[in-house]
Amino acid sequence: MSEQRSGNGTARDQRHVVIVGAGMAGVQTAVALREQGFAGAVTLLGAEPHRPYDRPPLSKAVLLGKADGSAFDVDFEALGVTLELGREVTGVRTGDHELDTAAGPVGYDVLVVATGAEPVRLPGTGSDPAVHVLRTLDDAARLRPVLAGQHDVVVVGAGWIGAEFATAAREAGCRVTVVEAAGRPLAEALPAEIAAPMAAWYADAGAELRTHARVRAVEPGAVVLEDGTRLPAGAVVVGIGARPATGWLTGSGIELGAHREVLADAHLRTSRPDVYAVGDCSSFPSGRYQERLLVHHWDNALQGPRTIAANIIGETPAVYDPVPYFWSEQFGRFVQYAGHHRAADTTVWRGDPAGAAWSVCWLRAGALVGVLAVGRPRDLAQGRKLIETGAALDADRLADPARPLKSALL
Ligand code: FAD
Repeated sequence: MSEQRSGNGTARDQRHVVIVGAGMAGVQTAVALREQGFAGAVTLLGAEPHRPYDRPPLSKAVLLGKADGSAFDVDFEALGVTLELGREVTGVRTGDHELDTAAGPVGYDVLVVATGAEPVRLPGTGSDPAVHVLRTLDDAARLRPVLAGQHDVVVVGAGWIGAEFATAAREAGCRVTVVEAAGRPLAEALPAEIAAPMAAWYADAGAELRTHARVRAVEPGAVVLEDGTRLPAGAVVVGIGARPATGWLTGSGIELGAHREVLADAHLRTSRPDVYAVGDCSSFPSGRYQERLLVHHWDNALQGPRTIAANIIGETPAVYDPVPYFWSEQFGRFVQYAGHHRAADTTVWRGDPAGAAWSVCWLRAGALVGVLAVGRPRDLAQGRKLIETGAALDADRLADPARPLKSALL
């Protein structure tokens, strides 16, 4: 089939694509290759022993025991994808087109780096069984008894994961204290005026949020803060961010950025020939936003693989230039964000942030560049489309939450 589609199709279809990392981005790359007609060999290597699974449910249904797992509904055998689990890749020699694993080398014609990210840990707590992170199915399995046992929990970091874990822990009946070094939740993601109302969500849910609070030490049964406060803690959950899992690329010649992420180009190619990178492990130059973006969200791991598959198969390079999107479920609220804003953009509120449903829009030169929607999924859906088109909007009409967001179109 694909032999007929491209000029050098026969040679192309004999290529072996090896994908490293069997998370969302890796699995979707394999699926997209087959969907787009790639007929060559595809191998997916994953370090974890589990059947590939989706991460967002880990901090939600899986944590609460409402779902046993979140395995992707993908039939790898039927797709003709060789899946090798428990197979960690330790290095790559791009000149030889060869990967290193404990079980021996693996050759490739095209390599896709999709190794995701690893949670940042509190220094010195790596081997303490009472100190947890939440990234993998195994992490969630270790945390389920903490919730079921209704332990006192101290959550370090009021970011997305911290908020979602605190939500689940409160639902399970744990006493929850969240300590945050910054002055508000989500300090790295949202401006102060927007994150400030979110601080009240913690108290409403019965969780204590302590801002400007830094951890000095974790001791048996307690977390000690810099100001000397001792917080009782049967378990500590650390949610202070994640770093690209790219240690195995050291010395490979594949260029990394300031956050140790793979620097991909607009076609998601890396600095070495025949090597692509996608998902949480890499950044790409956004033409739309005129800056390099390192996105640690699910939708990026879904969309990027389609561009990679198109570029592996096709003759004309496809450009990756998405409107980033993510969601979070916290304290009974559905929070969604699309686009990418900067501090200098004009903020337009839609609705009262003390209420159950409100949105914030960001305008640049009269066009929408970002939208945050709390309990207003229609605003998100319409805003996402308007961001894509870049159409000019009327700020006064936009500020009226009774009107559909799209009615602000000029
Ligand atoms: P990963 O999912 O991290 O997958 C990478 C895989 O590569 C891992 O399985 C890893 O073991 C493997 N690997 C790493 N190194 C190697 C190696 N050397 N050799 C072989 N394999 C290797 N996003 C949202 O938008 N909304 C949400 O509500 C949301 N909730 C989340 C909840 C949790 C608990 C977590 C952890 C993330 C959540 N996210 C959410 C983010 C989203 O899940 C990630 O952006 C997405 O999983 C990224 O996919 P990925 O394939 O790039 O990386």
